[in-house]
Amino acid sequence: MGYVEVWSSETAGTFDIPFRCAQCGHATQARVRAMGHARTAIEHHRVEAMAQQAAYGHAFRAVTESPCPRCQGPSTTLAERMAEWERKARTRKTLRLALGAVGLVLLFASSAGCASLYDDIAQAGPGVGIWTTFWGVILLGILLLLGPGKSPRRQASPWVQFA
Ligand SMILES: [Zn+2]
Repeated sequence: MGYVEVWSSETAGTFDIPFRCAQCGHATQARVRAMGHARTAIEHHRVEAMAQQAAYGHAFRAVTESPCPRCQGPSTTLAERMAEWERKARTRKTLRLALGAVGLVLLFASSAGCASLYDDIAQAGPGVGIWTTFWGVILLGILLLLGPGKSPRRQASPWVQFA
């Protein structure tokens, strides 16, 4: 077997990113310095371009997450991302509630089924306790994983300079 060569590239650049405020409509540009890093084992001929792309991504994010220089409002891009996050959070909440209810029913049904396997109650206690805890933790983990994640929010970056 041969070895896999990993190509890596790092780049830094200055980008001009347009900014439009979702609150007061102020449209401007911001200049931001950003770094990008890329690693690839396959597309080595593109590693420079990938690093450049990563740098642009960081720059775009830094500018669109900045508050409006006039009114501190969010950019249109961030406002869209926030709205999308809220939509996702709402549907995920419904899904989690439904799944949680089904999970709880299954958990109790299986715990009861498990308890009936034992002849006397004193013996059943620890076994059923472990069973319930084990599946309870798994159910909780699944519900947490289904969460919408961190909400996007405004944050000023020292690297962003508005025109
Ligand atoms: Zn504004």
